[in-house]
Amino acid sequence: MPDTASKKATRAGNYFISNYPPFSFWTEEQANEVPAIYEQPHDGTPPPLGLYHHIPFCRKRCHFCYFRVYTDKSADDIKRYLDCTVRELEMMARRPLIEGRKPQFVYFGGGTPSYLSAKQLGELTDRMKAILPWDEAQEVTFECEPGTLNRGKLAAIKELGVTRLSLGIENFDDRILEINGRAHRSKEVGRAYERAVAEEFDQINIDLIAGMLEETEENWKRNIRKTIELQPDSVTIYQMEVPYNTGIYREMKASGSLVAPVADWETKRRWVKEAFEELERHGYSVSSGYTAVRDASRTRFIYRDSLWGGADLLGVGVASFSHAKGVHYQNLTEIDDYEQAIEAGRMPLKRALRTTEEERMIREFILQMKLGHVKADYFRDKFGIDILERFAPQLAELQDDGDLTVSDGEIRLSRDGLLCVDNLLHDFFLPEHHTDKIV
Ligand code: SF4
Repeated sequence: MPDTASKKATRAGNYFISNYPPFSFWTEEQANEVPAIYEQPHDGTPPPLGLYHHIPFCRKRCHFCYFRVYTDKSADDIKRYLDCTVRELEMMARRPLIEGRKPQFVYFGGGTPSYLSAKQLGELTDRMKAILPWDEAQEVTFECEPGTLNRGKLAAIKELGVTRLSLGIENFDDRILEINGRAHRSKEVGRAYERAVAEEFDQINIDLIAGMLEETEENWKRNIRKTIELQPDSVTIYQMEVPYNTGIYREMKASGSLVAPVADWETKRRWVKEAFEELERHGYSVSSGYTAVRDASRTRFIYRDSLWGGADLLGVGVASFSHAKGVHYQNLTEIDDYEQAIEAGRMPLKRALRTTEEERMIREFILQMKLGHVKADYFRDKFGIDILERFAPQLAELQDDGDLTVSDGEIRLSRDGLLCVDNLLHDFFLPEHHTDKIV
């Protein structure tokens, strides 16, 4: 079982829980069931719908990256890929399950969506909107790498309707950025941030990583000071993990080391704790195990909250994840396979899992625990389950350990509990899903 709650050294593996049941239970056989799901409309009122578009291109591969990204594609390759994503959207939007619905939220993730030129972005989104208009979307998120942004591109991103710009800064120190293989440097961060503010996006989020290679106490403090100086609407801080398919892991393996050359879990947790405390002293509030927001009354993250509340997600692009009518699935994970499937008129499916009502309940429960508070009423109304009764033994144990409290029908995680929440969630898995293979 992963152990991020103790002092232990950072070993290779995925600790972050982004879905349930774990991906290792999804199968290629179940992917065959997916096309039929789209042939029937939802019974009754459908849940909110989200649209995810995956752009798998980056300028350079970061040493800690475990995503499917390509750094060597030509303009023609990119055009072919974008054409395929539009064809995929066309193929899916016409199906009875999606027809007539409009996305509540749209998310451009990657890879690096801002790797595309202003022209490519304009053409892509015009075509997408003609197929599935997002004029009713409450949030359009766009992930950016600071070094890919210039004034014209930011204006184009604003123009396409982006409300939430997310900047992958990760660290403000040039040496650390270089050692970790990031493509951008601090000068580009300053410029990109200033220009993004000038474009008046509704929300600017910045991402940081606690525990990058060669991070120090002093530099981490400097990161937090710089973040506070910028005053972003929200700050997301991840604790560095070292999955198997990363450059860092390959080097560990080559040198025969079992321990990653990054801070241990206790240090990373303390760094996030100190960052949250400092942000709180400057008016921010903590809204999940990873996020602090400047103005909680106006800063929402609809993509996260809707997905964690059971929304449907239509993901297009290589390796993208979707969720429809209780079935999770992932697209083919190699760009050539993905494009060949689309060009042959087939859904580009890799693996899927049909979930039971109980698994859906557990999924929402564990994902909402990451927010730091869960209301029992929500689960009684939606699933007819009393979670306080159902999970009584696990909750009692976590309460004894000081990780949470339960009162007035609400579970509230302590700050220490919240900072190692991904580790606590395994206790709520069904016995058959206890595994150390999360991905
Ligand atoms: S920018 Fe993000 S997606 Fe691209 S290589 Fe780095 S971590 Fe991976």
